[in-house]
Amino acid sequence: MRLTIIGCSGSFPGPDSPASSYLLEAEGFRLLLDLGSGAIGALQRHAGLYDIDAVCLSHLHADHCLDLCAYYVARTFHPDGPRPRIPVYAPAGTASRMAQAYGLAEPPGMTEAFDFATLEPGTRQIGPFQVTTAHMNHPVETFGYRLEHGGRSIAYSADTGESAALIGLARQADLLLCEASLLDGPDLPANLHLTARQAAQHAARAGVGQLVLTHLVPWNDQVLTLAEASEVPLDGPVSLAASGRVIDLG
Ligand SMILES: [Zn+2]
Repeated sequence: MRLTIIGCSGSFPGPDSPASSYLLEAEGFRLLLDLGSGAIGALQRHAGLYDIDAVCLSHLHADHCLDLCAYYVARTFHPDGPRPRIPVYAPAGTASRMAQAYGLAEPPGMTEAFDFATLEPGTRQIGPFQVTTAHMNHPVETFGYRLEHGGRSIAYSADTGESAALIGLARQADLLLCEASLLDGPDLPANLHLTARQAAQHAARAGVGQLVLTHLVPWNDQVLTLAEASEVPLDGPVSLAASGRVIDLG
């Protein structure tokens, strides 16, 4: 299973990264996890635009889903004709939200380009991946993910405040891709995002093999992000996500 970080900038794109998007590959199957602002551009450095087999969205905040509009254009208006529909697993209401975002009448909205499937907490098979989802702690319905293949596992926090469900999803995972939107400080918002230290605490409780900090907000000093996470004792390494970084779990 191979992870390619397409975008890891938190809340809005940064100078060196689009907003959230991750490419997971196994057995030639390509799954895109989130499609935040700008992701379709950087994706083309790592995969053919039409080589994506499925899209999974964590939630409907713009920095996690809005490039589905760009991808709709790319799949629908190619000079050689529309590309085949691909599945989009996403929270309830996604088809309408995306149609509104682009100003499309419903029907059909984007349903001729994408086969929308409403996510529920639980486990399903998507291509070669066993995919488990659980509700996170965020102001809108948000799913964290665990993807497993060939005895390897990757967990993804999406956006969340402190969450026992995230620890459950990530338990003994080889890699936890965890948001670290906040730095230590007074009066931090509750039930919204994690600090880097909280991300590391979740990783420690779950016993993950390695922690990759993501959803890195451009106004933060990421040297501090890594330093604050590194103060939490962990069995495995902790590092920062970066657009273009590839992690091969074998
Ligand atoms: Zn969010």
